[in-house]
Amino acid sequence: MAKKRTVVVVEDEDPIRRAIVDALRMAGYEPVEAADGEAGLLEARRAGVDLVLLDLLLPKMDGFDVLRGLRETHAALPVIILTARGSEDDRVRGLRGGADDYVVKPFSARELLARVDAVLRRTPERPEPVVHMRAGDTEVDCARREVCHSDGKRLPLSEMEAGILQRLAVYAGRAVSREELLSCVWGLKDGTVETRAIDMHITRLRQKLAGEPPADPPIEWIVTVRGKGYMLAPEIHVVTEGTQQEDPT
Ligand code: CA
Repeated sequence: MAKKRTVVVVEDEDPIRRAIVDALRMAGYEPVEAADGEAGLLEARRAGVDLVLLDLLLPKMDGFDVLRGLRETHAALPVIILTARGSEDDRVRGLRGGADDYVVKPFSARELLARVDAVLRRTPERPEPVVHMRAGDTEVDCARREVCHSDGKRLPLSEMEAGILQRLAVYAGRAVSREELLSCVWGLKDGTVETRAIDMHITRLRQKLAGEPPADPPIEWIVTVRGKGYMLAPEIHVVTEGTQQEDPT
């Protein structure tokens, strides 16, 4: 059975939030509730979230600020804003701010679910967990958090190193920003840890992947993308849970 998709509901009015949550649950989604903007941003940034329903008028942090904050770390996460009838400016501002769609209040459960469904259909499925990675004779076992070199040497990866590597593998083919790595791997809000900490972990990770002494010719696992962040090198073979059986080795 397919995994339930997680939808974060950021809405301060209890009856509305509850109605949305009930409708989502009935439709087979996994709803997560947040009653103010700060909590909403925190929940939306957690790993495994598929979509965010975002009210605009919220206590602590308004919806536009939540959207802005979210777009800094999660450029592609689908967001549907909930706007009041007649507030066309809000709709335009929300869409310009990176919202994927909007629903005008008051809305029916059917209308809301149709929008959620439509937006999710446009976005790819939640990525499958990465099981292992391989380049040349070097292999990474994600479950055991180990780098296995051709000479039989095994080097353990720290939780953070493994988290960074898996994140890069999940988004193979595009650069992942330091901010995104910070918030996804550590689950931290901006500013708690310096993004330079990421660079230090990447350096250590590269050393472990290269081996001691480094493979000849050396294999580049992680590419630095200037101004954007880091990317898994295209030649790294990534095996996910779903493709495991088809893997020839
Ligand atoms: Ca509100």
